[in-house]
Order: sequence, then structure tokens, then C-alpha cells
Amino acid sequence: MLVVMQEGAEESQIQKVIDRLVAMGFIVHRSSGVMHTVLGGVGPVGDVDPAEFEVMEGVKECHRIVSPYKLASRSFKPGGTVVKIRDVEIGGERVVMMAGPCSVESRDQIEQIAAAVARDGARVIRGGAFKPRSSPYSFQGLGEEGLRMLREAADRNGLLVVSEVMDQTQIPVLAEYADILQVGARNMQNFNLLRELGQVRKPILLKRGISATVEELLLSAEYILSGGNYEVILCERGIRTFENSTRNTMDISAIPVVKSLSHLPIVADPSHGTGRRDKVLPMARAAVAAGADGLLVEVHQDPDHALSDGAQSLRLQQFTELMEQLRIIAKAVGRSV
Ligand code: PEP
Ligand code: MN
Repeated sequence: MLVVMQEGAEESQIQKVIDRLVAMGFIVHRSSGVMHTVLGGVGPVGDVDPAEFEVMEGVKECHRIVSPYKLASRSFKPGGTVVKIRDVEIGGERVVMMAGPCSVESRDQIEQIAAAVARDGARVIRGGAFKPRSSPYSFQGLGEEGLRMLREAADRNGLLVVSEVMDQTQIPVLAEYADILQVGARNMQNFNLLRELGQVRKPILLKRGISATVEELLLSAEYILSGGNYEVILCERGIRTFENSTRNTMDISAIPVVKSLSHLPIVADPSHGTGRRDKVLPMARAAVAAGADGLLVEVHQDPDHALSDGAQSLRLQQFTELMEQLRIIAKAVGRSV
């Protein structure tokens, strides 16, 4: 049940509506927009008549939320969510660049990459310390030591940190070192992990599963939001289709689709989306043109010797070129990078 309060509704009127929803068995989530407060009641909507709320003082309108996801739905926050971390806003006017290696490999590697991408205008450094690899024999990441290196390189270069959390036991260590906790494609439907992340007070970057629909992505976000963590950033990273000329099929159309269905910011990952360095720039340009709020891009100082995903990692110089191109594209769609 969604109750939209009138502009300037008094706190006492809002509280009466909350009390009524709670008395009916709803769990209430509150969203305060610039103009209106919206109350999302999640619960036994079945026989509740929206008119019961519409006649209450201070209420503008009331509807049943018809989509299977409630708090992720655009109607819950029509103005859109901006996730603010220090001076970085994800979902605002500026397209936020998140760049770095697939995996943290050494202090020297991460320092070189952090300095280069920061100089080019990235705001966030990415790098996996716990790696979900298809083979158990592949490099699995440096763990906490890798996170420490990532944090130090980020701090030296004025960057935020995004890094992947693979299971619940890793949440405390990720929360200690990272500013944004990434849920990888393979974990998009790890519902126990998502529920735990609902209790965390750090933004979550939730990647679309390899074969997930947009609706399933939004339902996964709903797990986190319903736990009370409203800072979710979605990520389109390509899906598996019959096409095999690229590693995955980058679903650019998911960006405007998500924008209309949900208030959550969405970023795009053209590195995993294509799997090929030479296809990353065109898909990055397309994602920004389609309205992405940011990009997550793999960059490596020596991709030919990278311990993971070298083939899709940009060289430092290519990242510089990408930034130059994106300045033009972003401006054309009323944004900046
Ligand atoms: C990654 O970002 O390094 C990663 C493993 O991505 P995904 O979960 O999209 O495969
Ligand atoms: Mn990778």
C-alpha cells in the first residue's frame, strides 16, 4: 500500500497514517521527497480499501502497489534515489566513474592504477579481494590484505572503494575497508546474503545475475531495501544469451527500463558485459547515452599479465581516451563525468 501525503503535510498527520498502517499489520517504510512524503506499507494488502487512507487528514492519494517489488518501485520515490558517499553522488547529474583492476594483485599494481584513474577523473576504485572464479584453480584473490592495499591506494588518491562481498561471513571485513559493497552476478539471488546486507549501513552495488530478468533484479534489490538499507545501486553487467561473439550480451535497454520501473540508480559494467577490451569503449559510450548513472570499468596497468580478466581490462591510456569521449557523450545527454 502506498500512501502519498499532501505537500506540507504535518508530522502528526503522517504519524497517524503510520500508526494506522502498523495497526493493520503493515511494515512501514518512509520516503521523504522534495515535495511529498510517501509511506510504503508492505504487508497484507488483500482486503484493505485505499479509500480508508484517502479520507485521512493530510493524505493526497493512496494506491495498492501492483508491481511485485514495492520499495524498489519508482512510485515509492518518484524523484529518484541519489546515493551520497562523502562528496560523490550516484544517481545525480554527474556520471560516476568506478574503475580499477578485476582483482587486487599487489600494492604496486593497485597504487599505479589508482593514481592513473584518479587523475583521469574516476571517483571510485574497484578491485576484488574475494573473487568468485568459475574454476577453483584460478586466482581467488588476496583477501583482507588485498582490501587493505585497496583502501590505502584509494585514500592516497582521494577515491572511494567498491569491492565484492561473496558471503555473509565477509560482511564485517568488507564494511571495514570498502565504501560500497558489491554483490556479484553469481550472488544476485543469494537471498540470505541479501537479507544480511539489508542490515548493513553501507551502500550496496547489486549486479544483475547472468540469467536474471530486470524484474528479478528489482526483487533482489527489494530484499536489501526491505531490511532497511535504502542505498542500493543496480548494475547491468551483461546477460548470457545464445550470442557468443562477446562474453555476455550487454543489455543496454535494461538501463532505461530500470529507470522507468525503479527509483534506484543504475550503473553499467561494459567490461564483464562484453569480455573484450576493444568492445568496452563503444558499450561504455552507449551506456552513458542510454542514461547510466555511472560505469564500472576494469582497468589494468599490464593487462597481458593480469591474474584475472586481462582480456577485458583497458590499458591506462585507453581509460584516458574513454574519459575524453564520455565528456562529450555526457554533455550531449545533459550530464557530466
Ligand atoms: C567483478 O566485478 O569482478 C565480477 C566478478 O563481476 P560479475 O559478478 O559481474 O561477474
Ligand atoms: Mn572481473
